[in-house]
Amino acid sequence: MEKIGFIARTRGELDAFKEGVIIIPTGTTEQHGPHLPVGVDSFLAETIALHAAKELSTRLPVLAAPTLTYGNSHHHLSFGGTISLRSETLIAVLKDIGMSLAESGFRKLFFLNSHGGNDEAARLVVRDLAREGICAAATSYWTVAWDALKEAGALDSGRVPGHAGGFETSLMLYLYGELVQWANRPPLREDASPKEEPARRLFVQLPGEGVGKDGYSDDARHASAAKGEQYFQIIVSQVAQAVEEFYRRI
Ligand SMILES: [Zn+2]
Repeated sequence: MEKIGFIARTRGELDAFKEGVIIIPTGTTEQHGPHLPVGVDSFLAETIALHAAKELSTRLPVLAAPTLTYGNSHHHLSFGGTISLRSETLIAVLKDIGMSLAESGFRKLFFLNSHGGNDEAARLVVRDLAREGICAAATSYWTVAWDALKEAGALDSGRVPGHAGGFETSLMLYLYGELVQWANRPPLREDASPKEEPARRLFVQLPGEGVGKDGYSDDARHASAAKGEQYFQIIVSQVAQAVEEFYRRI
């Protein structure tokens, strides 16, 4: 069996990675509309991390740690199919993961996130870890890949990343097509909200507000496995580049 990631190694074998980068994928278990499994974010975070680590493995010591499959998803609870950590719990968990890795001798930690609700928490934790003398970085995969995804026309599929819309559905069709219930995809809907989420100037979350109208951000009419393959390759290469820059900087 091929040795994949941190958890497949003995403590002795892990010593070889102490001067390298440990990627910590952070996902969720949360509803993703009527047609996608609740583990979308966890599947994506883990698969991107493993592929980026593999791409880098000939150039630097790098491993993907076990994926955190719970995140801050309280804004999905009303739809069902969701297990959520409060934001203060998530911050504590991420901090404990970072502190444990540091105590085990790993010097460079890279939090790779796949869910909007986790993004700010990971960045705060990186600040706190630095105060403990630990070198860490945090990003969401769409942030590092944004320019390249936009150039490749990803916004034509829907919002990026959106939620259970054309973009995430494309990625899932390519990577885990057997888990996509295509016949149950959401009805067509005009999406009036801006597609370029990072460009929004003001963050607003109103009381009682969920995600989209029915737990998805945009319909999946433009989704395809071929697009998913293209997006996935862009994301893996951009994440690998970001990890390598972080490694060489310290
Ligand atoms: Zn998602």
